[in-house]
Amino acid sequence: MERTRQASTSAADSAVQALPQAVGPKQPAGGASSRGPRPKRGVPEGLWLKCDGCGATIYRKEAEELLNVCPQCDFHWYVSAAKRIEQLLDAGTFDEWDGDLKPADPLGFRDKKPYAERIVAEQKRTGLKDAALTGTGMIRARRVACGVTDSSFIMGSMGSVVGERLTRLVERATAGKLPLIIISASGGGARMHEGILSLMQMAKVSAALARYSQAGGLFISVLTNPTMGGVAASFASLGDLCFAEPRALIGFAGPRTIKATIRVELPKGFQTSEFLLEHGFIDRIVPRKDLKSEIARAIDYCGG
Ligand SMILES: [Zn+2]
Repeated sequence: MERTRQASTSAADSAVQALPQAVGPKQPAGGASSRGPRPKRGVPEGLWLKCDGCGATIYRKEAEELLNVCPQCDFHWYVSAAKRIEQLLDAGTFDEWDGDLKPADPLGFRDKKPYAERIVAEQKRTGLKDAALTGTGMIRARRVACGVTDSSFIMGSMGSVVGERLTRLVERATAGKLPLIIISASGGGARMHEGILSLMQMAKVSAALARYSQAGGLFISVLTNPTMGGVAASFASLGDLCFAEPRALIGFAGPRTIKATIRVELPKGFQTSEFLLEHGFIDRIVPRKDLKSEIARAIDYCGG
């Protein structure tokens, strides 16, 4: 009894203490560090965000007004595929293509749980059929073909549906002579749950892009945090113009894997947008707020 009362008292104390920390925007992030991690109580769920870049507590609405960018350190947060479309295209112009394509489970694959169950769970959680959203819409009144991958659906990995949707997107852009924009947010690369069928997608999308290029199309690839593995190693790197958001993680294998394989200390900032710009892998770093204008400008500059 005595113990229970003590426990509930200290819980109430931390709830009271948590409030001013969460509310005061100028509080240093490490304010609660001497007492361990800051208790979650007192922070209304979803109203505040903890910045992954600077650790500050940010009012969610303020960040959302900045297109999910931290007002204090310019960290670019995750944006869902649907939100990305909303941010990039003129309001109400998006027309989805191939929205009926759904993933199958050709290998009967299971890791921690069966792939078939995982797909259903991910679809429920994200509202997507798979990790890519494709279609057409307008960017400042210029019609484009546009695809987005979403890192929250099995890490944005490319299985047969992502590959097929992107390939059809490229083919329609070729037939319709449309500028092509693909925004990558894929930490997972090729989706191992579908084995060789996933790996084939890299070649399939790349071949469609080659035909698009021969037909004179303009492909702008936008790399966001994270763009890794088979996605970085195929279509994401094949843009006529490669843009990247600031401080995005972009690479093939993760830094720990590379370090363990080649046993060499990797350079500082390796696999960031800034490092890759310096080494000629990408053409320009574009902050999220400028992305729409920069893409529209690039389309005009390249002759529509
Ligand atoms: Zn920040």
